Formats: sequence, C-alpha cells, structure tokens
Amino acid sequence: MNDVFLSIGTNIGERENNLKQAVRLLQHQFEVINVSSIYETAPVGYLDQPSFLNIAVHVKTSKSPFDTLFTCQAIENELGRVRDIRWGPRIIDLDILLYNHENIEAENLIVPHPRMYERAFVLVPLVEIAPNFACEQLAQARQKLDTLDREKEGITQWKTIATVDEFVRSES
Ligand code: ATP
Ligand code: MG
Ligand code: MG
Repeated sequence: MNDVFLSIGTNIGERENNLKQAVRLLQHQFEVINVSSIYETAPVGYLDQPSFLNIAVHVKTSKSPFDTLFTCQAIENELGRVRDIRWGPRIIDLDILLYNHENIEAENLIVPHPRMYERAFVLVPLVEIAPNFACEQLAQARQKLDTLDREKEGITQWKTIATVDEFVRSES
C-alpha cells in the first residue's frame, strides 16, 4: 500500500460541507488514515475572492500516482468544480502533495506538488498530520515551514477534527 498526502481547498459555498463531501468521496476510493484540522487562509495569487478552508489528508492506496490523480479529478468534477480563473475561486481543489517518497515529473503530474514548499496553508496541515512520518520530502516541508513565519500568520486553525469518522458523519 502506498502512502499519499493530499491537500484540499475550498472557498465557495458551504466550505466545511465541501471538505466533508470530498473526504466522504475519498473514503469510497482510498483508506483514509487521517485528516488535519481545518485551517482558514486569506487568498494568495488572485486576491479578489473569499478566504479558503484547507485541510491535508493522509490516505493509503494501491492505486498508481496517475490513477490517484484521476480519482482526485473525478471527485472535483463530482463536486461541481469548474475551471476558469487560475488560482481563482473554487468549490474544491484536490492536489497530490506526496506519493510515498517518490519524485514524479510527468506532463500532467508533478510530485512533490511543485508549489507546496512555498505555501504555508499547505505545509501547516501537512506537518500536523505527519508528525512522525519519516521521509526526505516531509523533512523539507518541516524545515520550509520554519522559514514561512510571516505567511503563517495569515492562517488560523478554524476547527479541530477529532476523528475522520466523526468528521464525515457530523452535520455542518
Ligand atoms: P496549483 O497547482 O498551483 O495548486 P490548482 O490546484 O488550482 O493550482 P488545477 O487547475 O487544480 O491547479 O490543476 C491544474 C493541473 O495541475 C491539473 O490538470 C493536473 O494535471 C496538474 N498537476 C500537476 N501536478 C499535480 C499534483 N501534484 N496534484 C494535482 N494536480 C497536479
Ligand atoms: Mg491547488
Ligand atoms: Mg489542483
């Protein structure tokens, strides 16, 4: 089984519900091991949009990296993601951060995610759910996070998650 870390973001509609729906759909396709707290972050890149809720999710799977990407895109589509403005508002974004300790550079898939090390809103939840997970990429994530102090101030822990099951079963 492969260890995969995903990042999920949303800033349109019922944001917490969007995250929950995404995790429920992930549970149909993967073994969901852990979900981080929910963090709220001001938008970066395209600034004229509502703030984001972000989580990181640890899953185990026998799917290949490309099947994993395909599954994530299918979930985005099922939840009604429309692609228009790059880095613009979205119902849901599922990105693959890490796939084991692999480095992948294909046309449609780059792992570790090419922009994760500059994004505190990705690293904070990732590091939270992988405190003891030893790999070079996570060591780098922890190290980078220490240098992103100013950006970190724009991130607040919006809600803690007790267990994955409690999260997906709860009303929001
Ligand atoms: P960003 O990649 O900066 O977070 P985004 O998530 O909004 O931006 P998308 O529109 O979701 O970008 O994805 C654009 C393309 O990125 C997808 O078609 C996908 O093939 C490609 N891609 C490359 N590497 C990854 C990855 N690690 N996870 C998800 N998508 C990836
Ligand atoms: Mg993204
Ligand atoms: Mg994406």
